[in-house]
Amino acid sequence: MKVIADLHTHSRYAMACSSAITIKGMESTALEKGINLVSTGDFTHGSWLAEIKRDLEDPDGTGLFNLKGSNSGVKFILGVEVSTVFNNTPTTVKKVHHCILLPSIEHADAVRDALSKYGAMDSDGRPTLSMSPAEMVENVRSVTKDAVVFPAHAWTPFFGVFGAFSGFDSMEEAYQDQAQHIHALEMGLSSDSPMNWRISKLDKYTLLGNSDMHSLPKMGREANVMEIDERHLDYRTLADIINHKDAGRMVKNIEFYPEEGKYHFDGHRNCNVSVNPDTSTIEKCPVCGKRLVIGVLHRVNDFADRPPGTVPHGSVPYVHAVPLMEVIAYVMGKTAYSRVVADTYTSMVSALGPEFEILLDIPPDRIAKVAGDDIAKAIINVREEKIGITPGYNGVFGVLDLLNRKKGKMHNFVRQRGISDFTG
Ligand SMILES: [Zn+2]
Ligand SMILES: [Zn+2]
Repeated sequence: MKVIADLHTHSRYAMACSSAITIKGMESTALEKGINLVSTGDFTHGSWLAEIKRDLEDPDGTGLFNLKGSNSGVKFILGVEVSTVFNNTPTTVKKVHHCILLPSIEHADAVRDALSKYGAMDSDGRPTLSMSPAEMVENVRSVTKDAVVFPAHAWTPFFGVFGAFSGFDSMEEAYQDQAQHIHALEMGLSSDSPMNWRISKLDKYTLLGNSDMHSLPKMGREANVMEIDERHLDYRTLADIINHKDAGRMVKNIEFYPEEGKYHFDGHRNCNVSVNPDTSTIEKCPVCGKRLVIGVLHRVNDFADRPPGTVPHGSVPYVHAVPLMEVIAYVMGKTAYSRVVADTYTSMVSALGPEFEILLDIPPDRIAKVAGDDIAKAIINVREEKIGITPGYNGVFGVLDLLNRKKGKMHNFVRQRGISDFTG
C-alpha cells in the first residue's frame, strides 16, 4: 500500500505553535491531506505525552498508533524534535535540531527521563538540551537501538547541522563516533532532492522531507511516499526503509519548491536585500554593512562536488508541490488564512478527495468543474514547473506567481524543470 508520511510535526506545546493542535485534530487534518502516517511530535513534553497516552493506542504492538477506537487508517509514530546546544570550542556555540523516532510509549518515557538531565522537558515541546549531538544520540540509543535519529532541516542557517552559522562541515564532525548511526537527513523547505544530489558524500543518506508544522494546515507541506506491504506496516519496516536508503520502498519525495523556502537565498530582511549566491559573491549587506544571513543554496554550493542536474544512482524520485491553501489564496488574491480560502479548500476536498490527490493526480478538467479554471490552471502549472518564484531569504518565504501574472517584472524567476538555475 502507498504510505504518505510526515515525520516531523509539533504539538501546541512547542514554541510559536497553534493552540488548535490536538491529536484528534491531527487525525482529521491527515485525512484531508491524504497522509496516513504522521509524527505525534513533542513526545518529550509531559502534557503532550499524557495526551498521547490518553488518545492513542497500539493494539497490535506494531510500534505505530491509531486514535483510540478509530479505523480511519491514519497511523501515528512517536516523534520529537530536540535542540542540542553546546560549546564546540571555548568561544563557539553550536545549536543543532534533530528528529527522533521511537517504537513505544515505554521508550518515550525512558528517553524523556534520559534527556531531562540535560534540559527542561516541559517548557517547550522542542526541548533545548545542553549536550553535543553525539551525546544526544548516545543517550537515546542507550534506551533503544531501534531509535531513528536524523538532523532536522539540515541546511537552515541557525539550527541546521550544515547551516552557515551554527552547522558543521560533515556528519562525522557533527555526530562524532555516533555518525555511523545516522542514516537520513531532513532536507528542509529551502532545499530539495536535486540540490542534495549534488553532494556525493550524502549519497548514502535517505533524504526526507517533512512539514515541521506549527499549525494544522501546514501538515504535509513536505512528505515521504513509501510502498509498504500492508501486513508489514509497522515501526520496524519504516525504520528499515530509512536506515537502508531503500529506494525500492521509498518511492517519492513530495517537496516544496526550494525557492519558496525562507532561507533559500542569502540576504538581509531588514534592508530588503536578497542575494543569489549563484551570481553574486557579496557576503555583507550593501545597505547596512552587516553580515548577510547565508542561505541554503549558498551552503549547498559550498558542499557540492557535482554540477546541478546530476541524478545519482539509487536516488528517489521527487515532485514539487505547493500546498492547496496557498494555490487557492494566490488565485483569489487573499491570504491563506482567510475564510473564503478555507471554505474553498473544504469544498474541493469534499468533492474531489484528499489534497495530495488534487495536487498530484486528479485531471485538470475535474478540478476546474469544482474550483474554476484558474485554480485548475495554477495546479497544472505547479505540476509542470511553469511557475514564477521570488526566492525566500533571511526568514522571508519565497513569493509564488502560479499563473505568471507578474511575468517579466523584477525579481520574478521562472523555473525550468530539473535545473536549479533561474531565467529572467
Ligand atoms: Zn527545528
Ligand atoms: Zn542590511
